Amino acid sequence: MTAAAPRLRLRISAAAERQLRDGHPWLFADSVREQNRPGCLGELAVIYDRRDRFLAVGLFEPDSPIRVRLLHAGKPQTVDEAWWENRLREAVARREGLFDAQTTGYRIVHGESDGWPGLVLDRYGSALVLKLYSGIWLPRLVELAAWLQRVVPADSTVLRLSRNLQSTANAAFGLFDGMALLPAPGGDARIEAHPLRHQRFLESGLWFEADLARGQKTGFFLDQRENRRQVELLARERTMLNAFSFSGGFSVYAARGGARSVTDLDLSPHALAAARRNLSLNREVSSVGRCRQETVQADAFDWLEQANGPKFDLIVLDPPSLARREAERSRAIQAYARLTRAAVQRLQAGESVLVAASCSAHVSADEFFATVLREARRAGRPFRELERRGHPPDHPANFPEAAYLKGVYLEFGRKSG
Ligand code: SAH
Repeated sequence: MTAAAPRLRLRISAAAERQLRDGHPWLFADSVREQNRPGCLGELAVIYDRRDRFLAVGLFEPDSPIRVRLLHAGKPQTVDEAWWENRLREAVARREGLFDAQTTGYRIVHGESDGWPGLVLDRYGSALVLKLYSGIWLPRLVELAAWLQRVVPADSTVLRLSRNLQSTANAAFGLFDGMALLPAPGGDARIEAHPLRHQRFLESGLWFEADLARGQKTGFFLDQRENRRQVELLARERTMLNAFSFSGGFSVYAARGGARSVTDLDLSPHALAAARRNLSLNREVSSVGRCRQETVQADAFDWLEQANGPKFDLIVLDPPSLARREAERSRAIQAYARLTRAAVQRLQAGESVLVAASCSAHVSADEFFATVLREARRAGRPFRELERRGHPPDHPANFPEAAYLKGVYLEFGRKSG
């Protein structure tokens, strides 16, 4: 696009117009009716309604089925430097009062629901992780780094790129996953030499380390904080199985809550090594010091289904997303059923608790809860539902596709007979 090119203008279908007015943040390619010229990656696109009035403005992505990700709908606004900075300050202000000095790892910007489509910003102590899920930000990265520096200054910022962006980011912009974003993109920042492989931060007064340059998501599952806090309250004197443990977050909380033992179960030896490190970082807490830790490297489905395996009186099931596409939805539901069935068989005969979580956006909360409850009933053992939980406040979800996280807590009574 040359400097003289006219502003990119779109007209869209009536149905899409209604959706955008209702606050949906995505304009799909097949809803575009007219376009004054081809658009470039990440440029501002203005959307007009049938009567030629301003409807919304967003960022254009030529090759994506989500053709425009909205920044704003309603009255016209000028999107300039001050506008961007203000939008960042709004996200920061939304988290005010949520965390004290005991929690230095949390989300500052959560994508569309914070008005930053396809972009996530997490704080880990003195470092930030900026993760991009859409190419629209690639041409703006230098500006973005400057806004970050002004609004949320940090010692260092790590750039993370979702897998689908990595080749374009590298070929067209010289960017790569895990590089340091500041002081300057490029330069001699190398993944191997990156200092942020073991970045420390606090969550609810507990120490954790995260691999910001290579770890899953942005290095830690910050979205499970509220569930971890809840598990701490349920852990006293219990033996706990943390299935799909990743770096052992649930186990560290359970240990502080007085669990007699925690067993971390994961397919990945790196995850289990991190789980051991995270527990040992907190050994000075007396209850953590007393807690026994075991790690098991195995496929959780197979391991849980083994006949005569050990039993536990608190089991957390927090698998990775089991449905990445709509087409995988029914298979995912079957997998949740299978996991619940197997886990219930692994609960101790006495009073025991199952916590089942799902992060699959394609499986609705209702479908997930119904599946877990159905399998729990089939076990033929009395139980009651303690609670259901959704998104934590630093991960708001304000349109249907954004809601992915749900969890249910079931307390089983003594087995009769
Ligand atoms: N509960 C974790 C997050 C889980 S992420 C937390 O609170 O931090 C999902 C984890 O499941 C990853 O660590 C991944 O290595 C592991 N995983 C994926 N498939 C698995 C399988 N079939 N069996 C065991 N672990 C698996």
